[in-house]
Amino acid sequence: MNPENHLFIDGELVAAASGKTYANINPATEAVIGQVADAGPEDMERAIAAARRAFDTTDWSTNHALRLKCLQQLQRGLRAVESELKRQIAAETGAPLGICGAMGPHCEIPIGFIDYTLKTLPEFQWSRDIGIAEMMGGKSRRLVEKEAIGVVACVTPWNVPLQINLAKCVPALAAGCSVVLKAAPDTPWSATMLGRVISQHTDIPPGVFNVISASDPAEVGDQLVADPRIDMVSFTGSTAVGKHIMARAAQTVKKVFLELGGKSANIMLDDADLGASLLSCLAVCFHAGQGCALNTRLLIPRARQAEVEALLTTYFGFIAYGDPDSDSQIMGPQVNARQRERVLEYIETGKQEGARLLLGGSTPAHLDKGYYVEPTVFMDVTNDMTIAREEIFGPVLAVIAYDDEEEAVRIANDSDFGLSGSVWSASEERALAVARRIRAGTINVNGGNFYAADAPFGGYKQSGIGREMGPEGFEEYLETKTIAIAV
Ligand code: NAD
Repeated sequence: MNPENHLFIDGELVAAASGKTYANINPATEAVIGQVADAGPEDMERAIAAARRAFDTTDWSTNHALRLKCLQQLQRGLRAVESELKRQIAAETGAPLGICGAMGPHCEIPIGFIDYTLKTLPEFQWSRDIGIAEMMGGKSRRLVEKEAIGVVACVTPWNVPLQINLAKCVPALAAGCSVVLKAAPDTPWSATMLGRVISQHTDIPPGVFNVISASDPAEVGDQLVADPRIDMVSFTGSTAVGKHIMARAAQTVKKVFLELGGKSANIMLDDADLGASLLSCLAVCFHAGQGCALNTRLLIPRARQAEVEALLTTYFGFIAYGDPDSDSQIMGPQVNARQRERVLEYIETGKQEGARLLLGGSTPAHLDKGYYVEPTVFMDVTNDMTIAREEIFGPVLAVIAYDDEEEAVRIANDSDFGLSGSVWSASEERALAVARRIRAGTINVNGGNFYAADAPFGGYKQSGIGREMGPEGFEEYLETKTIAIAV
């Protein structure tokens, strides 16, 4: 592998000012796979200053043609390193190689998503004339104009790092913003490689795009989100850190865009074909359950519990894992030892609170390396248990029985989160009616898949504020200005 181990500041790939580096670790093998620049406050200061200067003094924010050209160059550059990038992402996230290709959201798919921006950017209406209005004895012609919000801090997690880095940085750059991207400590290469590609393949002016990797997120992260030169924070991560960032950003009243955690419900209505629909539950093992939108609560009709139990036992037996080079496995390890401990603690809490362990619940006996947790299913869960309320971010399914459709909807909505969900029924009309009652930003019906470049994604309640992707995901990075001209 030929990863990028430097920061990218003001158009240059540089070491940390302190000279410090930290180890990037493969969670599937526990091996150190490289060293990466460990930025401190001095580096962050340079990145913020460069981004501010680039926004204020270059024509990046107003030169639409330059931005379109640079985003085309960025996509071409990413495609040129795609197979390398795919191996790096697999190595630093632990995701099996197969789901870093066309079967997962890690690399190829999000690079392809840039097509959506390339297609829609030239069509975007930057200004509209809303006509003449008479007000208080005078007349004005009014224009409503859209312009870049300014300097954006993008703060991203480790679970699908390239996808989330691109979902933020591409629309921000397309809108005319300058960017400071702070990578998650566990997955720096998915960000630093963007710096390299931008420096080597694009005409993006120095300072418009900057990348910071750091082992201590709080130190440079707090600095970034509180800095008055930053106009907006675009954050994806845990609800706890999201709240912290929102509070810090409030001191300078900057826009905060948040994509946070989830505890989504997969609702089997009483007429659902369980043989087909319960296969969807295996998604909790996808990338070891490290997906914010995964349906980690399964809601089933109480009368069909025995059938559900038998099918889940069979289906979870299909999940093979432990081979990072596999093209067919969907499950890898947790991202680090701390996360594995956290997941195991939740499993203990589930047992203590009275849930019945049907499958898994431990570290796998057949693997002596890697931060793996067995695929785990709990039956007899009630919605007030910790494993039904908190995001575990591991391969753990909580099965909750309900008595009627009203109760299913009530349980699905009885959550601090509102990110996603699914509904299954023999009647599409019935499933759709239930889907419309769920307080969540995305819902799949009968196996549909919301994930696409043109479909907005985001959360209700404590799952976030704002939307990523689609037209809404672009407009997050814009300000609106009304100009009134006396006539
Ligand atoms: P995290 O909240 O721990 O960290 C996210 C990012 O914030 C990282 O870059 C981290 O270094 C940084 N950070 C931590 N403390 C900071 C601080 N004080 N100031 C500024 N930045 C700080 O999340 P994680 O563990 O990396 O990722 C898992 C979480 O992300 C889960 O809760 C998951 O649901 C969520 N997530 C949400 C979505 C979504 O779109 N809704 C997508 C993926 C992941």
